[in-house]
Amino acid sequence: MAEKGAHLTGTTFTRPSIFEIIAQESFASTVAPAFKQIFSFIISFDIERYGHLLRWADEGYLIFDAILQGYYFNKYSASFSETFYSLKRISVVNSKVKLKLSNEQKNLSIILLVLFPYMRNKLFQLSQRYKREEVDGYVPNLKWEKLYRTFVIKGSTIIFMAYEFMVLRNYILYISGKSVYTSPLLKLLSVTLTYANPQPIVSVSDLLRKIRHNSFGINDGIDIIQRLVTTSLEFGAFFLQFLSWWNQEHYSVNLMSLPIPPPPKIPETAKQYKGTCPICHKALRVHTVLSISGYAFCYQCILPVIRKDGKCPVTNYPAKEDDLIRLYLE
Ligand SMILES: [Zn+2]
Repeated sequence: MAEKGAHLTGTTFTRPSIFEIIAQESFASTVAPAFKQIFSFIISFDIERYGHLLRWADEGYLIFDAILQGYYFNKYSASFSETFYSLKRISVVNSKVKLKLSNEQKNLSIILLVLFPYMRNKLFQLSQRYKREEVDGYVPNLKWEKLYRTFVIKGSTIIFMAYEFMVLRNYILYISGKSVYTSPLLKLLSVTLTYANPQPIVSVSDLLRKIRHNSFGINDGIDIIQRLVTTSLEFGAFFLQFLSWWNQEHYSVNLMSLPIPPPPKIPETAKQYKGTCPICHKALRVHTVLSISGYAFCYQCILPVIRKDGKCPVTNYPAKEDDLIRLYLE
């Protein structure tokens, strides 16, 4: 261990190539969409009952990510995707590289790793919503609200651009050897990446020998379970990445040549609401259809419901304002 660490105590340590750094980062960004895909797949089994949970997919992922990253940091001193690329985090003190992360660096690493993408995503969603509402002609009554909305829209654009610029600048510094840090966030923590030592792997024959000599302990069992879970997680992530690529490649093929399916049967509930609004039970006023469920409402009735509950009041399917379509029947 000492001779392996010797080269790390100076300024010269084995730097991962920029390709590994970028590959690792893009892999990390596929975990969240994969989680949401699985989440919505599970919920699709009973969408009427659990559909409203889809609104909390971001928060669900936040918890999942915190547990996942916490586990990997404790075991490998690296995030899930860094471990996948055989990298680990090391501490930098006075531009010299130390081998181990302090506990504080470890905890801050997890917090930044989990919270930063979440906050960025939330800010992006909020600014997108405000932009959409502005396009729809929504004018806030209060002056401070108007100011706040402009601040969010303009501010988020500036923040995102500045961050992208910092990342790019950091890459250039890293390639040219002027910086040891692989990202601006790691620089903030005085942490950088290097290659991880290969993990000792217990082979099947070792296991059999242990069982035969009765020295198979609880720790060995836990180790096997942990390895099974993490390997299947890593393999699953790879498989999902492959699937999304496959879908993109083959989804659009020959959609036009498929036979036209028969129209769906009209459910009993739909017959009951014929010509009337399911919310106010009167004749429809400004005909508006909710595209995800197919039910028509008065515009004045459905809009507040969608804004408040985020679901169709008849079918409970999750819905957004964007799913409302004005019908010009008159
Ligand atoms: Zn109505």
